[in-house]
Amino acid sequence: MGGESPVALITGASRGIGAATARVLAGEGYTVVLAARTESDLRSVAADIEADHGVPAHVVPTDVSDHEAVTALVETTRERCGRLDVAVVNAGVGERQDVPLDDLPIEEYHAVTRTNVDGAFYTTRAVLPALRESEGTLVYVGSYMAKYPNTSTPIYAASKWWLRGFAHSIAGRAGPDGVAVSLINPSGVPTAFGEELRGESNEQRLNHDAVVSAADVADAVATAVEQDAPGTVAELDLFRRDIHERF
Ligand code: NAP
Repeated sequence: MGGESPVALITGASRGIGAATARVLAGEGYTVVLAARTESDLRSVAADIEADHGVPAHVVPTDVSDHEAVTALVETTRERCGRLDVAVVNAGVGERQDVPLDDLPIEEYHAVTRTNVDGAFYTTRAVLPALRESEGTLVYVGSYMAKYPNTSTPIYAASKWWLRGFAHSIAGRAGPDGVAVSLINPSGVPTAFGEELRGESNEQRLNHDAVVSAADVADAVATAVEQDAPGTVAELDLFRRDIHERF
């Protein structure tokens, strides 16, 4: 990676898994670029990181469902940092649970797919040229629901199945160029996830003692990032150990 410090861009870095990932990568010496929509939250995460780890934390407010904003995010990263070694495609929103499809407002369908699907595509498209230059790592935060049907939140589940198919397909394209592509699939994590459309967060809903934490997911991302070429963590499932009890 040369003498200068490596650079990691994380979407959805204003809280939850994205903020935890930024903290772990900053602890490993990465300059971090924090993207999400809420500037005040990004600034607070950046201030903590700079105070705790002494590395630069750049705040770039970005809505990943806006492809021009995502292009600008990566241009800003290159201008400020000169390189990009790691991109974590993490921004995502959850769907309201158990809403009959004919009652689901079209806007809510789009709210999920614009961030989880379009946003992942725009981010991938924007970061790949820089990751090819650095032979860096592209990490997607998928989900348990990327691998199993979910009748309660079918749009969200489908968005993550899309992400999984996309991640592995992109691995086939970018791998020969030296880019590592990893997919991390957490099961329930007690974060603010779900609050936006559902009105109830996973933090409120889940039993904290029995779930995977945001820090656990961040450590899994770091494990993927640490792999030396030509190896990679293609996919890593981080499930609570009783997850398959229901089957
Ligand atoms: P969270 O605490 O709600 O964080 C979501 C992050 O995404 C926030 O930083 C949010 O910031 C950002 N975001 C949402 N829409 C965005 C948009 N259009 N543009 C840019 N940023 C956007 O949830 P989390 O649990 O950390 O979730 C992170 C990822 O993990 C998601 O992809 C989620 O699907 C996945 N995941 C979560 C769980 C879980 O149980 N929590 C399980 C499996 C997978 P702003 O609101 O400021 O934009």
